[in-house]
Amino acid sequence: MCPSFRATGEEEHSTRGRARLLHEMLAGEVITDGWRSAEVRDALDLCLSCKGCRTDCPVGVDMATYKAEFLHHHYEGRRRPAAHYAMGWLPVWLSAVSRTRAGAVVNALASVGPLAAVAKRLGGIAPERGIPRVARETFSRWWSRRFRDRVRAFVREAKRGERTRVPGAGRESVVLWPDTFTEHLSPAVGRAAVRVLEAAGLAVLLPPTFRMKSPAVMDGVSKAPAGFNVFMPHRRRRVCCGLTYVSTGQLDRARTVLRRTLDLMEPVLDAGLPVVVLEPSCAAALRTDLPELLHDDPRAARLAAAVVTFAEALERHAPAWTPPRLDRPVTGQTHCHQHAVLGDAADRRLREAAGLTGELTGGCCGLAGNFGFEKGHYDISTACAEDQLLPAVRASTADTIVLADGFSCRTQLEQLGGVRGRHVAEVLAEGLGEAPGDVLGKGPGGGPGAGRGRDEERWGRGENRRCGCGRPSRRAARAARPAPGARRPAPPTLRGTPV
Ligand code: SF4
Ligand code: SF4
Repeated sequence: MCPSFRATGEEEHSTRGRARLLHEMLAGEVITDGWRSAEVRDALDLCLSCKGCRTDCPVGVDMATYKAEFLHHHYEGRRRPAAHYAMGWLPVWLSAVSRTRAGAVVNALASVGPLAAVAKRLGGIAPERGIPRVARETFSRWWSRRFRDRVRAFVREAKRGERTRVPGAGRESVVLWPDTFTEHLSPAVGRAAVRVLEAAGLAVLLPPTFRMKSPAVMDGVSKAPAGFNVFMPHRRRRVCCGLTYVSTGQLDRARTVLRRTLDLMEPVLDAGLPVVVLEPSCAAALRTDLPELLHDDPRAARLAAAVVTFAEALERHAPAWTPPRLDRPVTGQTHCHQHAVLGDAADRRLREAAGLTGELTGGCCGLAGNFGFEKGHYDISTACAEDQLLPAVRASTADTIVLADGFSCRTQLEQLGGVRGRHVAEVLAEGLGEAPGDVLGKGPGGGPGAGRGRDEERWGRGENRRCGCGRPSRRAARAARPAPGARRPAPPTLRGTPV
């Protein structure tokens, strides 16, 4: 059922209420100001874009899509709310922080109360929210460093005659999608996914960062020499699913970003490689929003069809692989977009094979990307989290692993529950330990958890402690792991109120 209706109990904030208002707006009899209607905007304001109605509604009402379309028309040619610029353009802001290597400065400034308050006010962010910390090293920067280390190690070993085979040669390849959240805010998830996918016998690649086909230059007709962009680092681009633009109704910008993404992904599509997307909302955006927004571009449907979740990638492309046996209870949340668009059958089978027992809650965590961060949404966001997710976590025992594949769900757990939720890739990577003989494990870029910033460890539970060398310590993990059945410690308080 619609989470905002469950939280408010008001018809206006149900799928049916919103659908009725939209119908009246389009009919133009009761609501006469069309797309500019403030009444419809207010009714859609509390829609979390969770896509729950997409599967629950028998006639397939997809309010998240209608909301994006409405916001697109409503704000056409007008100034938007500050949150649309602050959070809709999040990929741009985070890329700028990464390019200027200002992550530590941004984190330091965001930890100063008055400065954070001003930033939140300017960005239309709820004052109750904490600003997520930016990772010190992005996922793709870690990837590049690891690649260089591997090449050097290979050359060294080849010179000594110890190695003649290129690592990864002969393996099936998958392309790992570096979504904005994994790239800038939660790179430990990406590192863990690489660890697991490689342990499963797959060769992991990242999407290209330059167009293989020559771009138009100057007159818009002539083409630059092939490979021109390779030598122009400032022209390098990143793939993006456009999710933040879609959810804030900036559909023209979303189309631009998605066309650029398709240009970059052409070699991947031509090679027929699967694209593994770790963040469920990005996977859902690529599966559904992309072909809807770019229905005139045949590459859109091809990319949508190539998208697989982490569990689907392991099941389809490494069927003989057995995950590490963890034998732990789990709780947490199936991401609402996973439930509505992607399905969780492969995830269930993966958890079962790894001995992760217990049901995850459904519904929506209440954060839903930008929704829970927007000013005025905090109470509804909290009420949605209190509906299923937080009670389930509180009722769990202290040795229970809290699973949450979505960055939003993990943020909600962290900010409201004082618990660190983990992507299933992180849990499996910990079960695998370090890659044997991998150059990764020998330096600061090693292992799935290596290089994890203080920000990423802040909410870490016992099993995430590490020894003095910086590597995850299994002994520390064993010692810190609570006895089975022990009660979960009380979470920290928020603004002095137990949550
Ligand atoms: S997208 Fe989610 S919050 Fe919005 S109407 Fe549908 S079920 Fe309700
Ligand atoms: S048709 Fe869909 S939106 Fe309308 S009342 Fe039924 S479930 Fe709700």
